[in-house]
Amino acid sequence: MKLVILLLILSNTLFSKINITLSHTNIKHGTTFAVILQSDTKLSHAPNVIFKNKTYQMFTIQGNTKKYTVFIPIDYHAKLQKENLQVKYKNNFKTIKKNIAIEIIDGKYKQNEIIKVFKGQVTLSNKNKIRSQKEYNSVYKNVYSKITPYDLTKNSSFKYPIKSQITSNYGNARIYNGKTKSYHSGTDFRAKIGTNIYASNNGVVALTMNRFYLGNVVYIDHGRGAFSYYAHLNTFSVNKGKKVKKGQIIGTSGKTGRITGPHLHYAFRLHNTTVDPLQYGEVYNKVLKLYQ
Ligand SMILES: [Zn+2]
Repeated sequence: MKLVILLLILSNTLFSKINITLSHTNIKHGTTFAVILQSDTKLSHAPNVIFKNKTYQMFTIQGNTKKYTVFIPIDYHAKLQKENLQVKYKNNFKTIKKNIAIEIIDGKYKQNEIIKVFKGQVTLSNKNKIRSQKEYNSVYKNVYSKITPYDLTKNSSFKYPIKSQITSNYGNARIYNGKTKSYHSGTDFRAKIGTNIYASNNGVVALTMNRFYLGNVVYIDHGRGAFSYYAHLNTFSVNKGKKVKKGQIIGTSGKTGRITGPHLHYAFRLHNTTVDPLQYGEVYNKVLKLYQ
């Protein structure tokens, strides 16, 4: 009897106490949420999160094997409904699956933002359609499909790429020349031609290129599937493969691409999903504070 009790106590002490929290349980479409797992003892394996048939590996911050996190995007076109999220981890060699209910809610973005541009930039010619598709394929190959498995921000918070007025928010529903409807995939900042643009965080330049819609654009890899990009630039100050520091000048603003006037279009792609760039920075900075 005594031995059984002793064994029970021993096996219980071998189990780690695990605490799982979410940055949000009601998540707006087009935004990012974080899953945070904290254990009282070190874990032998990195936990995973399974969400909408996709597996996301959780990462340590500052190499602490008691604390893990992952940032998960909600697509702008996601259905507004309840979803199940599963956190899978090993505890004392036993695989534990914990289900958590979340809800995707309406981001309540502005409707009917009217934009006037040249005719050929709304109804694309065949040549421009092919160009646009080629560009996306190149960006996918060189940028979005390459996941750096560690944090390139070096535990640094995100800041805005320019100190200026926001002229159009992420998510606004747009009507171009009274026709094509789409949504605004980034945040626009007022910037006259030649204004310095700064990296919003530490990272590595994944690509610089000229695109039909975005004009001259710089993509910065922040690691773990997170990329910021800066569009309609006049000039580039960095090249592919170059390490950049937060606040470093990466180029100057301009009016290249499909545009009505000079400005900076600042955008963010997480696990190949476009999300609100400023909200990503907010949730990232919030999680970072938990670890300090
Ligand atoms: Zn924009």
